[in-house]
Amino acid sequence: MAAPAALDGDVIVVGGGIVGLSAARALAAAGARTVVVERQRVGAEASTAAAGMLAPQAEAEEGSPLLELALRARDHHSALAPALEAETGLTVDLAGRGLIELAFTAEDRRRLAARREWQVRRGLAVEALGPAEVREAEPNVNPEVCGGLYVPGDRCVDNVRLVRALAASAVARGASIVTGRPVTGLVVENGRVAGVTAAAEVLRAPVVINAMGAWAGLLAGDPLPPPVEPVRGHIVAFDMAPALLRHVVCSPRGYLVPRADGRTLAGSTTERAGFDKTVTAAGLRAVLAIALEIAPVLADVRVADSWAGLRPGTPDGLPVIGPGALPGLIHATGLYRNGILLGPLAGEIAAALARGLPPPVDLAPFAVTRFAAARR
Ligand SMILES: Cc1cc2nc3c(=O)[nH]c(=O)nc-3n(C[C@H](O)[C@H](O)[C@H](O)COP(=O)(O)OP(=O)(O)OC[C@H]3O[C@@H](n4cnc5c(N)ncnc54)[C@H](O)[C@@H]3O)c2cc1C
Repeated sequence: MAAPAALDGDVIVVGGGIVGLSAARALAAAGARTVVVERQRVGAEASTAAAGMLAPQAEAEEGSPLLELALRARDHHSALAPALEAETGLTVDLAGRGLIELAFTAEDRRRLAARREWQVRRGLAVEALGPAEVREAEPNVNPEVCGGLYVPGDRCVDNVRLVRALAASAVARGASIVTGRPVTGLVVENGRVAGVTAAAEVLRAPVVINAMGAWAGLLAGDPLPPPVEPVRGHIVAFDMAPALLRHVVCSPRGYLVPRADGRTLAGSTTERAGFDKTVTAAGLRAVLAIALEIAPVLADVRVADSWAGLRPGTPDGLPVIGPGALPGLIHATGLYRNGILLGPLAGEIAAALARGLPPPVDLAPFAVTRFAAARR
């Protein structure tokens, strides 16, 4: 059965997570007929399961190609939040207060001092904190803390609201979003992409963006699929009013993220359990231990919710952003534990490529071809 012509387009984006919606929003603004095809509903997977940290300085290593991309992505959020609010009337709760990393041992302190040193050299804002300064900034953290680092630029956003606002903006700009429609494979004609199949339907477009998150390696017909694998993470949400924390607070084992709605999210685990989002006792125990180590007062606070999501991981921990192995195919996936941070920028880069424009950053470290040798 042929799809209605209205679902054919200039670009088909497979996946309605933060990456796919960001790509669609940028494409629609540029006048491209854009169709997002999502197998469930918008934001059904990692993009709403995440904690919403925007933390390049806490996450990236010195010299990693991820660092420059991540710093750029953090700046991108500063412009995106007000733009989305102006366009859609939806706030995304981009926090203004920064992130504090805690040290509990001499080894933690040494690690934070080393991080501070290279970040200062790189010209990034970061401050060492003594134990009293940590407690002054965050009176509810564990009194056993022996030092910390304050990173004013790293912060958080409400990723659920962000996904909602991106979808609203993409639609307002003219993109179509089709939900409940699993894409099964690529349509390939004369050696190039010509669309996708979704069950018995064919949706036609000369460019397809694979924004399928942890499922990105499963698009049939791709000769060099990105080797993305699902990495499960658990989150526990605490209900607290007034909020116990003012900043995002990290330990060497995990984090607490205060939300504007009064909840505090605790995360997370790193588990290779296939495509299984079951919330397990072991996962909850691990996250509760992280939370109570950072803020023992949480022991008396109501647990409001818990869930698990699947991060799109890659063998080298770097994203896959750039052209695929067929003309017309573009990848924007593998954002692993930084997809809320990187997603809007990655989507916009994919949109630029889809329009035949040069990418705004060097994509060589993120090319899918880096995995070609491993497949031979
Ligand atoms: C517990 C947890 C905590 C995290 N915390 C943070 C954080 O604090 N900061 C941060 O930056 N990142 C964080 N992340 C990572 C971040 O959530 C992901 O990297 C990001 O959401 C990936 O976005 P995406 O759009 O690529 O994938 P997804 O949001 O997973 O979207 C992919 C979409 O593709 C759809 N899809 C899949 N297959 C098909 C198909 N065949 N046909 C049609 N549609 C399909 C799915 O239904 C899904 O909606 C966290 C992740 C988890 C799980």
